[in-house]
Amino acid sequence: MKPVGPLPPEFVGQSGVLTIAGAPAEQWAADTPVFVYDAGIVAARIRRFRAAFPMVDLHYAIKANPLPALLDTVAPWVDGLDVASGGELERALAVKPGGAISFAGPGKRDAELAAALRNGATLNLESDGEATRALRLADQLGVTPRLAVRVNPDVELRGSGMKMGGRPSPFGVDAAAAAALVRRLIDAGADWRGFHIYAGSQALDAGAIIETQAATLALAARLAEAAGAAPPLVNLGGGFGVPYFAGDRPLDVERVGAGLAEGLATRAAVLREARFAIELGRWLVAEAGVYLTRIVDRKTSQGETFLVTDGGLNHQLAASGNFGTVVRRNYPLALASAIDGPAAETVSVVGPLCTPLDRLGDRVALPEAQPGDLIAVFLAGAYGASASPAAFLGHPAAAEIVVGGA
Ligand SMILES: *Cc1c(COP(=O)(O)O)cnc(C)c1O
Repeated sequence: MKPVGPLPPEFVGQSGVLTIAGAPAEQWAADTPVFVYDAGIVAARIRRFRAAFPMVDLHYAIKANPLPALLDTVAPWVDGLDVASGGELERALAVKPGGAISFAGPGKRDAELAAALRNGATLNLESDGEATRALRLADQLGVTPRLAVRVNPDVELRGSGMKMGGRPSPFGVDAAAAAALVRRLIDAGADWRGFHIYAGSQALDAGAIIETQAATLALAARLAEAAGAAPPLVNLGGGFGVPYFAGDRPLDVERVGAGLAEGLATRAAVLREARFAIELGRWLVAEAGVYLTRIVDRKTSQGETFLVTDGGLNHQLAASGNFGTVVRRNYPLALASAIDGPAAETVSVVGPLCTPLDRLGDRVALPEAQPGDLIAVFLAGAYGASASPAAFLGHPAAAEIVVGGA
């Protein structure tokens, strides 16, 4: 038997039938497989962030979950949207026209740059070459470009699941070259929006995030002084993690907020007038999502019991352990009809794909389950439906619904 990860706090203590946004899971499962996103849980995370970071803007990084119905709900609750493609830009403009939208990511094509420039979005520049193209396109379009410099920091986020700094990188301009680029943008007449510095993702260690944010403030100050210009905005990146696996501890967000408040209180004079933003994807939406998949078959093979479900890694790749993890561990998972039911057997929950990689639960202890029952895989709100190979093997896409509210 192998452990499963911890349930998100909203589901801890539920007994009997799993409920999502106050209704039994079965009520949301007319079509399976289905991702159910509880907007009330996203709202709760946003309230918690606001209380912990009263002096910082909150941006939603929509690549974590770009479902239009979710964006509609979340956009009014945040100060800005961060996008990473022309497609995401279109979705952001649809829900926050005229709002603060920033566009990061390497390899922005001319058409994407032009769409951002025409719509007043801020481009987080990833290279000198991209700066050259953005300035030329702005000239052709007759607009003053809003340009920020994404910096490849000389610090990395210790303990993060995905490191984004402190090494050669496709992301951002090396810290050593950033001040010169800022000068060039200002001299070219651009509306220089400041710095974007993103050092890592999926961090659960408050101390490491506090250190990184302090180093980020110091770096922004040093670069601003070298450029001789005060940044209007410093985007501190994000990287707040959620506990996926047994033994993971939730991030102490209040401690991070207190640490940042201290750093901001003593910030360098050149940052005195700056606004600060944190851009979060995963932490805002991961725990709000539950993937519900129905058991199609139950079989035993050489003594192991398999529950075969109607959905798998084609929808929820990360839960199968094939999205950025080295060792496969179980996401939190439950039988929806008996969320706290006593374990009756050890089973493996596998999807319908013809590959041994398609495993949602590896030798987990569950109450006895039969075909027709629903399996709930938690933490499905971020990097789920849109980050999975839906076309692989030609099964239908999963349904996605937003339920509940603030
Ligand atoms: C992906 C991404 C984020 C969001 O990261 P999370 O770990 O989901 O919070 C933020 N900023 C940028 C630039 C990103 O690419």
